[in-house]
Amino acid sequence: MLKKDTPSLWIYDYFSPFEIHKHAIRGTVYHGHSDIQEIVIAESECYGRCLILDNEFQSAELDEFVYHESLVQPALILHPEPKKVAIIGGGEGATLREALRHKTVSKAVMVDLDEKVVECSKEYLPSFHNGSFSDKRTTLLFKDGRKFMEETNETFDAIIIDITCPLEGGPSYKLFTKEFYELVRQKLTPQGLLSIQASTTSPTALTTYTILNRTLKEVFPNVFPYAAYVPFFAMLWGFCLATNGLDPAQVTKEEIDQIISERIKGELKFYDGTTHQSIFNLPKYVRKALAQQTHVNRDNQPLKEKYPGLAKKG
Ligand code: SAM
Repeated sequence: MLKKDTPSLWIYDYFSPFEIHKHAIRGTVYHGHSDIQEIVIAESECYGRCLILDNEFQSAELDEFVYHESLVQPALILHPEPKKVAIIGGGEGATLREALRHKTVSKAVMVDLDEKVVECSKEYLPSFHNGSFSDKRTTLLFKDGRKFMEETNETFDAIIIDITCPLEGGPSYKLFTKEFYELVRQKLTPQGLLSIQASTTSPTALTTYTILNRTLKEVFPNVFPYAAYVPFFAMLWGFCLATNGLDPAQVTKEEIDQIISERIKGELKFYDGTTHQSIFNLPKYVRKALAQQTHVNRDNQPLKEKYPGLAKKG
């Protein structure tokens, strides 16, 4: 993955065997292995510090706000009074940071499989977590997110799934199935919402996104796919919101801005009433692919990616 070139050191983001994006870096801040994955934190020339797990680019300092606000804010803003939030994955602590911005939130449980990723994030990615790991409302657990969902007796107003893509041989593919989403739905309060990062919406690799949307529709009455362009990924990145009734189209731009001003601590950089309207209006090619997908992802044949978005059906 690391290659010496002139005049800089370059780091390669493999989208597929036929498409690679390279970023100039000043150097690596951390490179090691946990029991679970390879962890790299690099200092990119353009995007600042970035986290890479098993060669998969996770987020970068300059534009992580686009990804993390998109993942968290639509769900929490739509809920009338989110108090308890669960985050599955979320290593960098930025998803937790976004949840804790809400003055209504009294408890945020973050469950990441890999303690080493969180340790590295605490030390090397301070602007990502911004102290959220030590917020008194935070409960930090290190275990498999699926096991947590199977074992917990708690219910949550929002569950946010911020795990790595379902890479073949990776730790997360069991958290993208119909059976897992059924478990999640049981752990939501009546007005509770689920929000997931759902891989790329690139026209070269729409399989994962469309299958996840289709799979969620088997379990939830309302599913809303949406997307935001993340410059570091050089892609329109996909998310899905699943609810028992709440609908992002039924809240106006003005209402969203009002909720933000009343409830949110600090200033959001990406999400507001205007952004809300744009992210839930997907391009035609994406809508068409979503409508055509029929495959439901199940435990007995879980999808696994070789490259982001390019899932093999079970
Ligand atoms: N932004 C990311 C992306 O683009 O995919 C995801 C963010 S976050 C760094 C991903 C986290 O998910 C990692 O810290 C990893 O340890 C965690 N993770 C992966 N599989 C998991 C599982 N089965 N249970 C809990 N956490 C998991």
